Amino acid sequence: SIPLGYFGGIGAASKNGILFKGSNFLDVIANIQNVVMDKTGTMTEGVFKVQEVIFNNDFNQSEILEMVNALESKSTHPIATAIHEYVGEVNTQLQLDDVEEIAGHGLKATINGKNLLVGNLKLMDQFGISYDPEVTKIVYTLIAISYDEKFVGYLTVADRIKEDAKLTIEKLKSLGIKTTMLSGDKNAVVQYVAQELGIQNAFGDLLPEDKVKKLQEIKAKNQTVAFVGDGVNDAPVVALSDVGIAMGGLGSDATVETADVVIQDDMPSKIPMAINIGKQTKKIVW
Ligand code: ADP
Ligand code: MG
Repeated sequence: SIPLGYFGGIGAASKNGILFKGSNFLDVIANIQNVVMDKTGTMTEGVFKVQEVIFNNDFNQSEILEMVNALESKSTHPIATAIHEYVGEVNTQLQLDDVEEIAGHGLKATINGKNLLVGNLKLMDQFGISYDPEVTKIVYTLIAISYDEKFVGYLTVADRIKEDAKLTIEKLKSLGIKTTMLSGDKNAVVQYVAQELGIQNAFGDLLPEDKVKKLQEIKAKNQTVAFVGDGVNDAPVVALSDVGIAMGGLGSDATVETADVVIQDDMPSKIPMAINIGKQTKKIVW
């Protein structure tokens, strides 16, 4: 039979918007040694805003932005929302063919018989598009564009760190827990956010499969890990961790379904709270 303490723990958690999908996870979370987290949507709001538009003069900026907006309308990525907010309504007259979303890179399509690429510099590299190396030094998240095999320019976008993110890391540290950030975003941006928050280890420029590899490396050191994420790309790492935690508000269905614990209001401070509830429940049960 299940001891009464577990019901108390699950109830206390649920009152705080933390849904445990089984009482066994209260035990596991109580002993977590490393909290591994995604950046976008987990420690940051996940709402990007366009900051700057830097285009080569050879291109008609508004024409290209219309094409970019039409292509991004095929994506659910937070970057797509930022583009839509900036450019406005999508021109439905534009005919896009062979639309492809390339995980961790961006988007590709054919328009007027020419290739349009919208994504990060890795995407540009993959298709052999050359650009000024100075562009690699920009610390913002960058949306690079190429049209007809030529580099058109880029937009910079920025996100905001969640209000309780810093306190979350401080609390985890005071519990003696290691913190790690894994992200598909540019490494310079990831290092900046990690430093702001006091996260001990941070890795950027990761493809979804790289996140899995990093998590396996941590598990191989015999550390019990919790992974916290929100995106579709996070579902495999959520599944692989000892406790998978999903941000339930912004989170993709796949990630929420795979998770063992769901944080309904997306507040990262609910992570140390869940750990504390796990620890207190154990005290009562034993
Ligand atoms: P994250 O770990 O931040 O959730 P993703 O794997 O979703 O990372 O994306 C990694 C990077 O790929 C983004 O930071 C962006 O540069 C690029 N990217 C992904 N999807 C898009 C898109 N729809 N439009 C432009 N760039 C994209
Ligand atoms: Mg994400």
